[in-house]
Amino acid sequence: MTFHSYDELLRSKHRLSMLLFFFLNSASSLFIMNGPVTMANPVPGSSARTFPLVAIAIICITGLLLSFFSKKRHTRPLEICSITIGLLWAWHISLRFHSIGELDSGYLQISLLTIFFISAIALSDNFLAFCLHAAPSSIAVLFLDDFLHILQISFTIALPLIGLSLHQLMIRRSDAFTKKLVNNLYNEREKFSDLSMIDPLSGLYNRRGLQNKLQAIFSQGNSSNYVMLLDIDHFKAYNDNYGHSMGDQALVRVATAIRDAVRSRDIVVRYGGEEFLVLMANVNQEYAMHMAERIQRRVEGLEIPHHFNTDVSTHVTLSAGVALLHNTDFEAAVTSADSALYRAKSIGRNNIVYAWEPIACNS
Ligand code: GH3
Ligand code: MG
Ligand code: MG
Repeated sequence: MTFHSYDELLRSKHRLSMLLFFFLNSASSLFIMNGPVTMANPVPGSSARTFPLVAIAIICITGLLLSFFSKKRHTRPLEICSITIGLLWAWHISLRFHSIGELDSGYLQISLLTIFFISAIALSDNFLAFCLHAAPSSIAVLFLDDFLHILQISFTIALPLIGLSLHQLMIRRSDAFTKKLVNNLYNEREKFSDLSMIDPLSGLYNRRGLQNKLQAIFSQGNSSNYVMLLDIDHFKAYNDNYGHSMGDQALVRVATAIRDAVRSRDIVVRYGGEEFLVLMANVNQEYAMHMAERIQRRVEGLEIPHHFNTDVSTHVTLSAGVALLHNTDFEAAVTSADSALYRAKSIGRNNIVYAWEPIACNS
């Protein structure tokens, strides 16, 4: 069985504890009812089949079957069951004590031990349920005994209570530690998942981040979305002449300029080495082209010297291809934008071309 969260694991533990509680109570009640003369049913010939004992058996067997087959995850009823069964046990003990009289002086203590045994095994993780289950019998035994063996009975009650309190303290500490550990793990996982969607050089989304954003955009059902592909002109020559490190710096500046030129809700992606993609949701063609021009102006405005781009400019420039995103066919839109970009390059670079259209703009 795999658990998807720590809370799920705790719920499963709670359910198992409930199953164990019902099992031990039903087994004990059936054994006392039908078994041979036992320590908890000490007098041969006297019927142990009291009303509360039968009620315990019926309730616990029903509870066992319901907990086993029910798909629902109950979180609270363990306390309610504990006090109910605890009261029935106390009732049974007092009925039996009255019917067997003083024939067996150890009956009360043996009965109390039986109750504490069930509580300690099934309810060791739930201190409240443990107390609710054991308290009615403890009080009943103290009164039935007329406080004659107060020391022995107090010992029988106090020992498991002290033991369980310490056990609870340890469980709480280890639970708190595990919970903190699991939370840290979740946070780290989220952080790494976010980081895995970001390109480390430019700080823009990478392709993985784009996939994630695409799903969000498609789920919003926007109808008029545009894809823009941007590619730095003659960037190989820039690298070859100014060095790779200067190339990186230029890439970062261009990436920032693109990010700053568009709306915050537009998705800007480093799509390849010196290639960027902008996804604009809910815009028209005019707006998409206007954005492309704005980006082009901003990048040229950075005035990053590029003397090996002289057929176009003495600064770093880029070319762009813009295409409409039909329905959810992103691949088709990118192919169109890419062929528009190719045309923008072939007509001299530092151009913007709209897919399936003649040259739309030339700065
Ligand atoms: P065009 O105008 O046709 O786009 O020419 P280009 O030289 O820009 O295109 P090409 O595809 O020939 O070269 C792209 C260059 O981009 C090659 C590579 O050195 C550079 N590049 C890609 N990624 C990075 C990067 O992360 N850092 C740096 N410094 N350069 C990169
Ligand atoms: Mg290029
Ligand atoms: Mg390229």
